[in-house]
Amino acid sequence: MRLNTQVLLDSPLDMHLHLRDGEMLENIAKASAHTFSGAVIMPNLVPPVSTKEEVVAYKERILKAIGNENFTPYMTLFFKPSYDKAFLESVKDDITAIKLYPAGITTNSEGGVSGFDVDELRPALGAMAELNIPLCVHGETNGFVMDREAEFVSIYEKLASAFPKLKIIMEHITTKESVAALDKFENLYATITIHHLLITLDDVAGGMLQPHLFCKPIAKRPEDRDALLKVALEAHPKVMFGSDSAPHPKHAKEACGCAAGVFTAPIALQLLAELFEEHHVPFEKLQSFISGNAQSIYNIKPLKKTIFLEKKPYKVPADYNGVVPMYAGEEIAYSIKEISIGQ
Ligand SMILES: [Zn+2]
Repeated sequence: MRLNTQVLLDSPLDMHLHLRDGEMLENIAKASAHTFSGAVIMPNLVPPVSTKEEVVAYKERILKAIGNENFTPYMTLFFKPSYDKAFLESVKDDITAIKLYPAGITTNSEGGVSGFDVDELRPALGAMAELNIPLCVHGETNGFVMDREAEFVSIYEKLASAFPKLKIIMEHITTKESVAALDKFENLYATITIHHLLITLDDVAGGMLQPHLFCKPIAKRPEDRDALLKVALEAHPKVMFGSDSAPHPKHAKEACGCAAGVFTAPIALQLLAELFEEHHVPFEKLQSFISGNAQSIYNIKPLKKTIFLEKKPYKVPADYNGVVPMYAGEEIAYSIKEISIGQ
C-alpha cells in the first residue's frame, strides 16, 4: 500500500534463496533474515542436502546464523530419483519442497538428474504428488547457453502432464517461452528474480564484462525481460518472487573463471519498490508478487513482519562481508525505514 512516499510490505517471502554454509552462511544469512519473513532455502551444498538428518542439521545452522532475527527457513532437499514414498513420508514435515537440478548445470549440481525418463522418475515424483510436496526445478538443458531454458520447456511440459497432481515450480524463469508455459498447465508455477526483471544480456556482456551480473540462467533478450515484467507487474497468480540471491566471495567473481550468481538479498525489496513505481503499478500488486501468491501456491502462513520503505536514495554498499552486491556503490531510489514484527 502507498502512503505518500512510503511503501508498506507485509511478510515478504523469498521463494528461492542460496544461504550457503559455514563462514558464508554466517556472513550473509542476516541480509535476508532481516527484511524477509521467510525464504525457500536451496539445498545445493557440498555434499547436497539429501537426507532427513542433513536437512534438520542445515536448518539448525541457519537458525544459529540468523541469531535473533524473525525468519523462517523453508527447507528443501536435493532431488534424487531414488527417493521413495517411505522416505518422503519420514521427511515431509521437515521440508517445504524438493529441488531438482539437471546434472552439472549450475553451482554444485553435479549429482543432479541427467535423463528425464518419466517411468524412471515415477516412484519419486508420484509419491511427491501424493504427499503434496512441490517440485522446484532448475530448468536448463546442456544446450547453447541462450537456448537452454527454452529447450527445457518441453521437459516441463512432459513432467506437468505425466504428474498432473504434482506442483512444479519453474525456478528463476528468464524467457518468454517459460512465461507462455505457465498458462498451458494448471500445475506449472514460477519464481522470478529481481535481476532478470532489470537486466538483459547486454548489461552483462554488451560493454565491459560485468561479473557481478553473471548468473545461471544467463540474462536474456529484451523481449524475454518484457514477458517476465508483464507477469510480475500484474502479479500473475502463478508467479512468485524468488531472488536466487547467490553469494560468492569477491575473489570468485572478479576472477578468470567467474562463478555464476548475483547477490541481491539486501536490496531486493528496495529495487522491487522502485520497479513497480516506475511502471506505475499499484503496490498491492507488489504485495501479491512478494508474498500473497507464494502463500497460496505453497499454502504457508509466514511470520508477520512489516517493512516500511521510503522513497529516499540509498547508496548500496561496496560489499557485505566480502560479497559484492548488485549495484554496489550505486544509488537506488528506495531505502528501508523501519521493520516491525508481529501484529
Ligand atoms: Zn538458484
